[in-house]
This record gives sequence, C-alpha cells and structure tokens, in this order.
Amino acid sequence: MELEWRRADFLYASLLYRLENEFKTLFQRVEKPIFVTSCGPSLDFRLKGGEKMANILLIYTGGTIGMVSEGCMQRLRPFNFDRLLDRVGEIQQLNCRIDFQSFAKPIDSSDIKPKHWVQLAEIIEKNYHQYDGFVVLHGSDTLAYSASVLSFMLENLSKPVVFTGSQLPIGAIRTDAKENLITAIQIAAMREGDAPLIQEVGLCFAHKLLRANRSTKINTTCFEAFDSPHFSPLVEAGIGLRVNKRSLLRNRKALVVHKELDTRIALVKFFPGINPAFLEAVFVNTAVRGVLLETYGSGNATTEKWFLKWLKKGLDKGLRMVDVSQCVGGSVALGRYETSRHMKDLGVVSGWDITTESALAKMMLLLPRCRSAAAFKEKFERPIAGELSPN
Ligand code: ASP
Repeated sequence: MELEWRRADFLYASLLYRLENEFKTLFQRVEKPIFVTSCGPSLDFRLKGGEKMANILLIYTGGTIGMVSEGCMQRLRPFNFDRLLDRVGEIQQLNCRIDFQSFAKPIDSSDIKPKHWVQLAEIIEKNYHQYDGFVVLHGSDTLAYSASVLSFMLENLSKPVVFTGSQLPIGAIRTDAKENLITAIQIAAMREGDAPLIQEVGLCFAHKLLRANRSTKINTTCFEAFDSPHFSPLVEAGIGLRVNKRSLLRNRKALVVHKELDTRIALVKFFPGINPAFLEAVFVNTAVRGVLLETYGSGNATTEKWFLKWLKKGLDKGLRMVDVSQCVGGSVALGRYETSRHMKDLGVVSGWDITTESALAKMMLLLPRCRSAAAFKEKFERPIAGELSPN
C-alpha cells in the first residue's frame, strides 16, 4: 500500500506545538464557530457553538498546493505533507477536527492513474463512518477527471467529498492555496441538523464549490482555473458561504463503491480534414471498447461515406460510442441536423451537456457494468450523479 497513515491527536498536538514549537502539524481544536451567511434564495446556514463538531479527513495526493521549487530553473516538484500544513496556521481557527492521510509519494496530477482513484475510493470507503466529510488535495491539471470519476465510483454518497488544489504552492506569496484549502474544509464541515449539508463530490476552487462532474479546467494562470459551464456553483464563498440548496443532491441509500474501471477508451476530437485511416484504426482495428466522439456544435460530424462506413463497422463489432460537443455551452441534440441524424440512426449515444472529463469517467464505469448496447445507452443518457441534463 502506497499510503502512509498519519493521525494526530489534536489536543496533544496543540500542546506539543506550544511547548516545543516544532511539531509540524498545526491542527487543533478551538471553540470558535464558523459563521456562514446567505443571500437570495439560498440557504442561510449557521453553525452555532455547541453543535456537533465535524470530523474531516484530509487526503493529500500531491499537486502544486504542496510543491516546492528546486534548482536554478525553479522547477516545481511535489513535497512532503507535513511541510504543507506548516504554512496554514489558520486551520487552527476552524471549528472541526481534522485527521489526515497522505500518499506516501505525493504526485503531480499528470501522473494520476486509475489505481490512484481506486486508492482514494478505498480510503473514503474505509473511513466513511468515522468522518463527516472528506477533503482531497490534488493537482489542478487532472482535478476535473479525478473528481468526476470519484463522483461515479462513490454511488449513493451522503457525505461531502471536496476536491481542491491551487495555482500557486502554499508557501508562495499571494498563494491561492490557503484560501482554497480553508474554504474546502469549511464547506466539508457544513451541517444541516445532524447531516452533512453537501452530500456529493465537489470541486472547490477560487471561492466556489462546483459539482465535480460538471467542472472543467479552463485556465492555466488565473486563480479562477475551473468552470462549470452547464451548472451553477453549489456554493459561492464571499463574506459568507452562499449555498444553492435547490441544486444539492440528496440520497438515503447506503454507499456502494465501484472499483472496476475499463480504460480501453478512445477520445476522437473531430476537425475538418480528419483522416479516414485514423478513424478506421480507432473504430475497427483496435482493442478499444468505447469511443467518445467530440463533435461540432450540437453533436454534428461529417456525412462522408467513409465515416459512416467505419462508424457502422465499429458499432457492429460492439463498440460503445458517445457523442459529446466541443462547445463549452449548450447541448448535443442528435438528429437536429442531417450531420448528426445518421449517428443517431446507427445507435450513437447522446452525451447531452456532459463535459468530456465526466463522459470519459462515466464510460470507464459503465463499460464493465453494462453488457448490452441498450443497457449502456439507457444508463449513459440519464444522470447518475447530476452530471448531465437530458433535453
Ligand atoms: N502540474 C500540477 C498538477 O496538476 C498543476 C497543479 O497542481 O495546479 O499536479
């Protein structure tokens, strides 16, 4: 197991910190409440003193948030978790108890693999009943992929799993890391009565909590690195936390964790001049089991005979094909134009307004679970975890 279990006793840690001033983790219990205000139709959420203190498990996988620069080129590489926590003394002021686990070897998220997603799901499964919420620190590059996959792996979630990261390392001047980490913990700790307020996988970045499987990375340099073009933020953090309560998922069933993922998937982005030989290779001559067609506008692609021929051959041999749009806004509408009617007639599945990241994740989960093309289509075209809106 690549994980290292690090558990701090808060009172003991705080005592040690004061006495020795060299204990590296700064988590401790304080009596200050988190005050959260609202406006408009959103929920007015306030955690009063005396209410049950939330137990949060913080899981560190790597990413810029915990990186340090080294060498004359100032190249960023993942660093050890203890040093990361050293920089966020503000955590002491949060009215929750925090334990943490870290990947033994933190990674840049460009190195994330399905085995890491399974590890994350297993940590959450194993600790599900001991904690009220989970915060996952993750690099921003593949954050939307990981968070989307986890939203499907953790079926019937009734606790928050909040992914966050940052554009600048936590030690940098003007870092966004502290803000993101503190907001993520506050959101994971929000309660409504006895239950956690957020009961789904979210992505917290730049003052917003987005539904994980609706999010996409849109910027490499701005702090607002993520957007959720088809779905409003679940929470907006200003002076208080404004919760869009009507959009929150609710669930009463027991958690089911799916760990089987099929990654034999191809992503084909259409462009004028796309080569027939390439599509033949992807659709016919491979071990690929699912293809995501990233098409133009409302789901359109060329009507050239060779395309229809390879498309039919691929579908006949059992490939699952899903149509998602290259556009940031709007939805796939198969059959609206002649240029998508042939795909609809042949059995291509509509991704509606799903993001590419989320469609890949959903396909990885559904390929092993749906034996027939009809079962796959039926499951894919309906939301499982709020990831799409069929028209
Ligand atoms: N390359 C980094 C990563 O994804 C970028 C970041 O964390 O923002 O791990």
